Amino acid sequence: MTMRKIKLFIGGEWVEGASGKSEQVINPANEEVNAELCHAGPVDLDRALASAARGLEEWSAKSAWERGTIMRRGADLIRSRARDLAHQLTVEQGKPIAEAMGEIDRAADFLEWGAEEGRRIAARTIPNRDGSQFMTVERLPIGVVAALTPWNFPVVLAAKKLGAALGAGCSVVLKPSEETPGAVCQMIEAMVEAGLPGDVVNVVFGVPDDISRHLIAHPTITKVTFTGSVPVGKLLAARAGEVMKPVTMELGGHSPVIVCGDVNIDDTVAHAVNHKFHNSGQVCIAPTRYIVQRDIYEPFLEKFAARASEITVGDGLDPQTQMGPLANDRRVAAIQRMVSGAVDAGARLVTGGSRIGNQGYFFAPTVLGDVPLDSEIMTTEPFGPVALMVPYEAQADALEIANGVDYGLAGYVYTDDVTARQTIASGIKTGVVGVANGVSHFPEIPLGGWGDSGYGVEGGIEALDPYLKNKLVVSPRAKA
Ligand code: NAD
Repeated sequence: MTMRKIKLFIGGEWVEGASGKSEQVINPANEEVNAELCHAGPVDLDRALASAARGLEEWSAKSAWERGTIMRRGADLIRSRARDLAHQLTVEQGKPIAEAMGEIDRAADFLEWGAEEGRRIAARTIPNRDGSQFMTVERLPIGVVAALTPWNFPVVLAAKKLGAALGAGCSVVLKPSEETPGAVCQMIEAMVEAGLPGDVVNVVFGVPDDISRHLIAHPTITKVTFTGSVPVGKLLAARAGEVMKPVTMELGGHSPVIVCGDVNIDDTVAHAVNHKFHNSGQVCIAPTRYIVQRDIYEPFLEKFAARASEITVGDGLDPQTQMGPLANDRRVAAIQRMVSGAVDAGARLVTGGSRIGNQGYFFAPTVLGDVPLDSEIMTTEPFGPVALMVPYEAQADALEIANGVDYGLAGYVYTDDVTARQTIASGIKTGVVGVANGVSHFPEIPLGGWGDSGYGVEGGIEALDPYLKNKLVVSPRAKA
């Protein structure tokens, strides 16, 4: 049987790369090869860039209404194919099929949001001081966008960038993660079937560093947007800075969760455990560092660990599965290293702590207590199914621990006290705070990080701003 090939989308056609190079796409639940992924080299990238330049001409010449009609049709087609896309997503990324269905639906929502917001782009005219001039600010598509997206939510994270860029009238060269390419390609197929001109989105895969270097430096690209890790984000932002190109950076987090002594422990644990292990903890806004008031620390830790140990871990295609495998073998190795390092440094392993079985990248839901604040796992985003716990005495101590890292994406607080809710929510230095709640990213809300977690936001009425440039036109005004 010949292996299925996932191709590049360049100039409106699915093509193999000129070099013939490729890599295998692995199912993280059983380590079987799903497909062979074609790689793009410099020749292919230049073709993709030339196509995207043509795409910009064609797409930006359409009215926002026309663009929106195509995008909404694409979103509907994606919804109608949700089962196929979700299946592909699960066999590539590992998440439970119900979560995959949710991701596909949310991706369609983000495309639709971009379509709608595109219709609200408006120029404005500012009165000048003596009434002799019109001063009009036009808002124009920024140009051809290089969009680089990761493997944890491959479809929706690509859709956030596509929705905003296409809604603004831009064209895109998209490099999804090589580890989870298929479902994203199916989303693009649906968009093209819905009427998206073939040059407007080009999709490339290959060696990430070679591709980002080529795209960012190329004069055709006028905007860079990336979702991924902090180190890679800093590298790409530096490259873009050298050629003066604006960037949007959605990077990692290391979210604190302050649990005050007045909460109902059972209710809080039930909510917190579900939140923590969603997508096997591979979520940029995942709760990670639990800072728990000393009086309830031990029962909270024990109950949290007991509940975590009951999670059904398995193949995401099995409807009984509550948590799938990690996305790749690098994550298993990284989590194992960080957990062992923390235990060596004095942390208490309460549950989990190791890989499950030896086929598939399964890792047990893990809870560590008394984690030293200077251990690697407390200062570097673990990005996996690991909850870290430390006690606190006074609220000020809790905030000091919460804010003691360079990340600033999300933070959480559990308390029934209204005043404490307000002081802690405003004292946590992150771009988003969940009060007695998780945070889920819907298109209507802008989400972005502070500090090392990046800059710019995605979603909300701000979503299209990074993909637009201003042009001020000052012209004489006829006297009445
Ligand atoms: P990584 O840093 O090697 O890669 C992260 C992503 O960046 C991948 O999609 C990869 O293809 C891409 N990438 C890597 N080097 C690149 C380069 N030079 N140019 C362009 N793209 C490049 O890490 P990883 O092992 O794949 O993932 C683990 C880390 O990534 C986690 O610790 C987490 O911090 C981060 N991450 C964050 C998000 C997020 O939603 N913010 C998503 C996925 C991964």
